[in-house]
Amino acid sequence: MSKKEPPEHNANIHAPWRMEYIRRLDKEPEGCFLCRAEQEAQNDDANLVLWRTPLCVVLMNRYPYTGGHLLIAPRAHKAGLEELDEPVLLELMKLTRDAQRLLGAVCRADGYNIGLNIGRCAGAGLPGHLHLHLVPRWSGDTNFMSVLADVRVIPQALSELHQQLLKVSREMQLPKS
Ligand SMILES: [Zn+2]
Repeated sequence: MSKKEPPEHNANIHAPWRMEYIRRLDKEPEGCFLCRAEQEAQNDDANLVLWRTPLCVVLMNRYPYTGGHLLIAPRAHKAGLEELDEPVLLELMKLTRDAQRLLGAVCRADGYNIGLNIGRCAGAGLPGHLHLHLVPRWSGDTNFMSVLADVRVIPQALSELHQQLLKVSREMQLPKS
């Protein structure tokens, strides 16, 4: 009988030291692109940062599911909702509202997916630093995206959209929070 390798997350259950190792890795600021973006205020264009508010940052996802995929994160490197104070939770939600308005104006989205992936097994690529995904959707975009699949990580396209989102943010006086 052939023996299959257990999935990564099963291995972690039986190797708690490995979980600790991963947890520590997640706390390393140099390994966290959200902490890096938060700290490098002078590199907002390179890091695709849109907005900085007292407790949060909003930036574009460099590997978007669809064009205009935004990330809304607390400035602090915290993994779970239970670690966030109420003012941070409120700011996250207000920014989500404002970012959705912005995408409505710029990308003319028909709908949105808004969500949190908590933990690696739930699909979090960066489980140590909580971030809310705001993904614009268009009617029939499944076909649309397969056509544009090669376009979505072109840095040029990302920076152009970044500049456009910044411009419209100023015109709409967003964020309001
Ligand atoms: Zn972080």
